[in-house]
Amino acid sequence: MTSLLSAMPALVLVALSYGALCALSPIGACRKCKGWGAKIHQTRTGRLKRGRTCRRCDGYGVRLRLGRRLYNATVRLHRAHHDDSTR
Ligand SMILES: [Zn+2]
Repeated sequence: MTSLLSAMPALVLVALSYGALCALSPIGACRKCKGWGAKIHQTRTGRLKRGRTCRRCDGYGVRLRLGRRLYNATVRLHRAHHDDSTR
């Protein structure tokens, strides 16, 4: 139990820093296309060329962080609940 108790502050710190990260920069680069929005091909001359549009991010090259999506869902749920109680 002692090891778990001593690990708690670290876990809290990790959770807090992740939450801060999601709050500060909710959008991250798409992991599949690395923010290009499309597959990148290298031509024989060594130049980079845009290929097909990335299916994962629909060509935007960005994606919403999981934490931000959870936050959005929580806010939506909370708002819906609040509207019901005020009406
Ligand atoms: Zn992508």
